[in-house]
Amino acid sequence: MDNLAIDGSEAYRTAVHLLEQRGVRLEDIADLVMFLQKDYIAGLSLQTCLEAVRAVLGKREVQNALLTGIQLDMLAEQKQLLSPLQEMVEEDESLYGLDEVMSLAIVNIYGSIGFTNYGYLDKIKYGILKKLNDKKNGVHTFLDDLVGAIAAAASSRIAHRQQRQQEERMKMKQAFNQTVK
Ligand code: MG
Repeated sequence: MDNLAIDGSEAYRTAVHLLEQRGVRLEDIADLVMFLQKDYIAGLSLQTCLEAVRAVLGKREVQNALLTGIQLDMLAEQKQLLSPLQEMVEEDESLYGLDEVMSLAIVNIYGSIGFTNYGYLDKIKYGILKKLNDKKNGVHTFLDDLVGAIAAAASSRIAHRQQRQQEERMKMKQAFNQTVK
């Protein structure tokens, strides 16, 4: 028997579906990426941000974190967790901390730039993060960190690509100058 209950594409679809079910569209995450990167990358389009978000969501560890974290949020909302985990997740207790630990696995995919962006988003609560932080809208103890982490990782991916392109342009220019000499 196949031990893997679901294949990669099903995990991706389920993760995206769960995000939407919890009020987060991929465009909302792309908005966060744009917010983080617009001052650093001239002419950055929302489409590029969205593609980076999709690439991050394509990673299995990201899908697994979403499937796990969102489910814990939902179970806490339905008061299905055992005490004291129920209270810790439902109240988003700051000493609980595993929501952040889970998100760090996503943030670190593209190196340490992601960490700075994640911390920044966590502090200013921009866009969809503001909505998720409002307790009237349900339990989003895991989801707010996961969404911030995906945006931070997608930003790092864009920043790394930009840097690589610049380096390649520089190399081509140097090679050109050599031949002209
Ligand atoms: Mg949280």
